[in-house]
Amino acid sequence: MQRTVHIAGGGISGLAAGVRLADAGYLVRVHEAAQQVGGRCRSYFDGATNLTIDNGNHLVLSGNHNVLAYARKIGSEAGLQGPPEAEFQFIDLAADKRWTLRINDGRVPFWVFDRTRRVPDTSPADYFALAPLIWASAGTRVGDAIKCEGVLYKRLVLPLLLAALNIDPPDGSAGLAGAIIRETLLAGGQACRPLIARDGLSSVLIEPAIDYIRARGGSVDVGHEVRRLTMANGGVTELALGDQTIALGPEDAVVMAVPPRSAATLLPGLTVPTRFRAIVNAHFRFVPPPHHPQMIGVVNGLIEWLFAFPDRFSITISGGDRLVDMPREELARAIWKDICAVAGLKAEMPAWQIVRERRATFEASPEQNGLRPGAVTAWKNLFLAGDWTDTGLPATIEGSVRSGNRAADHVLKTRSI
Ligand SMILES: Cc1cc2nc3c(=O)[nH]c(=O)nc-3n(C[C@H](O)[C@H](O)[C@H](O)COP(=O)(O)OP(=O)(O)OC[C@H]3O[C@@H](n4cnc5c(N)ncnc54)[C@H](O)[C@@H]3O)c2cc1C
Repeated sequence: MQRTVHIAGGGISGLAAGVRLADAGYLVRVHEAAQQVGGRCRSYFDGATNLTIDNGNHLVLSGNHNVLAYARKIGSEAGLQGPPEAEFQFIDLAADKRWTLRINDGRVPFWVFDRTRRVPDTSPADYFALAPLIWASAGTRVGDAIKCEGVLYKRLVLPLLLAALNIDPPDGSAGLAGAIIRETLLAGGQACRPLIARDGLSSVLIEPAIDYIRARGGSVDVGHEVRRLTMANGGVTELALGDQTIALGPEDAVVMAVPPRSAATLLPGLTVPTRFRAIVNAHFRFVPPPHHPQMIGVVNGLIEWLFAFPDRFSITISGGDRLVDMPREELARAIWKDICAVAGLKAEMPAWQIVRERRATFEASPEQNGLRPGAVTAWKNLFLAGDWTDTGLPATIEGSVRSGNRAADHVLKTRSI
């Protein structure tokens, strides 16, 4: 008889686990509490702009091997688009200066020695001063590992680490920052190409995964909140979904891929991160001028990254807790002012939408990082997934896919089909 794996949570972590297990011949049943699959990585139709937008602009790098392998498996790798080389355009609004960071292919960082490739007004020595970050321990803060000041910090380290950690970098975990640097910058340009789901997160990373699971006989259901797990004989024996109870067979398993608060409710006593940081995204219905870069980093502005989609400008502000209570119209105007400065526009503010994800990521501090559990629980058929589990990475799509794969591998290891 085909074995069943129930997956609680239809975010990227749960879907990644589901895809891997469906591929291995399991009957996969994904239970998603919300009315839409995708969790923090989703698209939806927005009435204010009359556009389908993403809840947040998501950037992946070509060195995010787990994301790329997941997209390849579900047939949507071509939907992750970016330049053939690792090029990042930047503007410093205070200094009115633009430059393009060009990271060469290969592991030897020639770009650091080439003033046309590196950040203006920096020297190679500035880059080597970042070395302590590479092997910093998990308990160290970034601010204790490197000096968080100077031109290189302001123009490269700050935007990079703020985007990756979603916390003011000096307070962030140097261990997590080091993992990002090892897997991208140190791996050379071909690991650093910026990739974006230009046709939307759901159509590239979510819907093909749902199709993949369903095509293998599985189910993905919305409005299926897992409310209780019944335990007996060292394992989960029942799942309660509202008024429906599902009994598990002796060979069935559960992957819990819900956010940390829900996980701790379902599994009392589980240690989970307890503090979170916000990300602010804004979307403006405006066709970008021809040849406008796909994305541009903004230094000394309110906005941090400007993304140009065929039908809109979208921006990201990480560590956005200071902005969550600002009046929406005031915030939209301030953001549009920055966009006009970056894109060289003089235009009235078009239709807009602001999405403030208050609990966008767990706080990537050493203390909160230390609260992340692994995939294995005390229950023989229950495994954890989620960007907040101990993946060794900050809360990212790469970490999410990795966590889902790892939970699936545990299921595969403990059972034999
Ligand atoms: C605005 C924003 C911008 C981001 N930008 C980037 C980026 O540029 N690059 C990057 O790599 N990452 C980025 N991230 C992080 C990335 O989105 C997350 O790491 C990833 O989506 C987390 O996936 P997950 O499956 O672990 O969790 P979630 O997406 O939170 O999924 C958990 C799911 O479980 C469901 N659920 C909760 N309780 C239950 C229950 N009891 N029963 C059933 N279902 C339940 C939830 O509804 C949810 O759908 C960003 C995040 C945000 C919010």
